[in-house]
Amino acid sequence: MDKHKRTGWKVMIPAGVLVSGLLLAGCGAADSSTDSAAAPQTGSTSAPAAEGTAASGTNSSTGSNTTAPADNTAGQPSTAGSKQTSASTDGSADLTAQREESSLQSTIKKVDGKDVVTNPESMTVIVNKDRYLPDGYEPPDLVVPDVAFSYDGVLEKSHMRKEAAGALEKLFKAAKSDDLDLRAVSGYRSYKRQVSIYNNNVATKGKAYTDRVSARPGTSEHQTGLAIDVSGPGIGYGLEQSFGKTAEGKWLKQHAAEYGFVIRYKKGADAITGYTWEPWHIRYVGKEVAQDVTAKDLTLEEYFDQDKIKQ
Ligand SMILES: [Zn+2]
Repeated sequence: MDKHKRTGWKVMIPAGVLVSGLLLAGCGAADSSTDSAAAPQTGSTSAPAAEGTAASGTNSSTGSNTTAPADNTAGQPSTAGSKQTSASTDGSADLTAQREESSLQSTIKKVDGKDVVTNPESMTVIVNKDRYLPDGYEPPDLVVPDVAFSYDGVLEKSHMRKEAAGALEKLFKAAKSDDLDLRAVSGYRSYKRQVSIYNNNVATKGKAYTDRVSARPGTSEHQTGLAIDVSGPGIGYGLEQSFGKTAEGKWLKQHAAEYGFVIRYKKGADAITGYTWEPWHIRYVGKEVAQDVTAKDLTLEEYFDQDKIKQ
């Protein structure tokens, strides 16, 4: 796919730009609706791709952020505005402190009757159906990771936060060296985009159904810029649970944590996370946390629950 490779893009997405992508639900699979493409008005130097091509798998598109992302290895503090991802030589003590600092209980405030997170820019922010991002939140450092995508061109959903994008590049490189064809399908999603998806779902499928399958605006983890849906050729680069049974899906489950990602919506954890099993949705939290969460076999909600931390 190197023939599609383009480098040197400035990939910061301008504020307020609404870019169309394949419409996805809470994460994605349950919502297959689409709307018309809207190209970025400014900022991006690339042409937008046609819509609805996410599952075609015939092309890949890569971009590259111009600055090397923080290499989030132990002992090296992150440079991406987070103090959550450094680790001392005593990893466990550091992780406990990190868990307490990012605990569900210590990172929430009531705003107009809603629980709103107080640490939206943290690599360990927990957003779910009960925990909203601040109104209109936009991540500070969105870039396009230099990885293979399931569609052509650069869209809003091509973006991730810089530190997460750097980690994704390493993850994809490792998959490729194991002869696997992992593709990025859907990353960042703006508040405005989620409003459009949600309203479209309510209009076409009703509110009750929509609330079951789709994240309310402000509650999608994709809005943090730290989550991305990925897939492989075994299921035509779609977002379905069967991805978990493909070579790419199995590899991802086994190796995601080594690169700082967790499979965010675990099998059988619906009551805790609010979502059914999504083997395609990975969330960046930093290497140490990801490895600890995975080793303990917890959801992020459990890992950052004050009561569990004390155990
Ligand atoms: Zn997702």
